[in-house]
Amino acid sequence: MDIFRGQNLLEFTDRFRNDNDCREYLAEIKARAPFKCSRCNHKACQTRADFSRQCNVCRHTESATADTLFHKVKFGVRKAFFMCFEMATTTKSLSASYMGVRFGVTEKTARLFMHKVREAMSSSRNHPMDGAVHVDEFVLGGYEEGKVGRSYDAKKKKAITAVQLTDEGKVKRMYAMRIDDFSARSLQYIFVNHISREAKVVTDDWKGYRPIAKAYDIKQIPSNKGLNFKALHTMIHQVKSWIRTTYSWVSHENLDRYFSEFCYRINRSQSKETVFNNLIEKMVKGDKIFQKQLISS
Ligand SMILES: [Zn+2]
Repeated sequence: MDIFRGQNLLEFTDRFRNDNDCREYLAEIKARAPFKCSRCNHKACQTRADFSRQCNVCRHTESATADTLFHKVKFGVRKAFFMCFEMATTTKSLSASYMGVRFGVTEKTARLFMHKVREAMSSSRNHPMDGAVHVDEFVLGGYEEGKVGRSYDAKKKKAITAVQLTDEGKVKRMYAMRIDDFSARSLQYIFVNHISREAKVVTDDWKGYRPIAKAYDIKQIPSNKGLNFKALHTMIHQVKSWIRTTYSWVSHENLDRYFSEFCYRINRSQSKETVFNNLIEKMVKGDKIFQKQLISS
């Protein structure tokens, strides 16, 4: 199969003219893994006109969207493809109300589907960052000016982020996640999930990082009002202003989803040519997410 390349909306529209074109694309991706009937484990099947697959023994039929994040999308898989294309290729903020208007669905429907896409955008955690990595924590909802040390204000959302830098000091990759507080126990999650033990990590001199330095190569230096962490602080500023301008209110539970979307775009910015196909492959691999798990939006 030729994967879809590029960001051209007209080419995209020509390639995906109806739901069946989209189902064919999904079926081709699924067909890379050997078929195994979910009912009887038989390994041979027939592909039908709607790209569903029917087991040769028990006749169980599996749709092209089964076991993907497109499963039971009520507004049609073509619309869903267009929403994925928009989210994968945009450089702007996309709100659920905007997406609802653009694609003719309700704001709530758009929000629920966008959360599924964000789930697909979340990191596989299979490629931890190595090389030069800078780590810092931040709060959403404004810094507390003049406050010494770390704020323990329970109302403010707290997060930690790490960036891997190029030799020129530019951002190569970025991950962020919400944390409950700035203790070593909470700070360690970004290390465990996204940073290789081989990485040369730099943090400011917050004492919360000291216990983690037993397992990771961490150098602590003064922040010097952020000047020593310029690229990192630029990214923190961007993610905060993106969340602030797009989403008037972000629940604690959803914060990680927004971080996934933001970091996915940063981490894929050098591979825009294949970003749509990458996202669809991640949607195919994603587990079914049921509405009740998304309801806290
Ligand atoms: Zn079967």
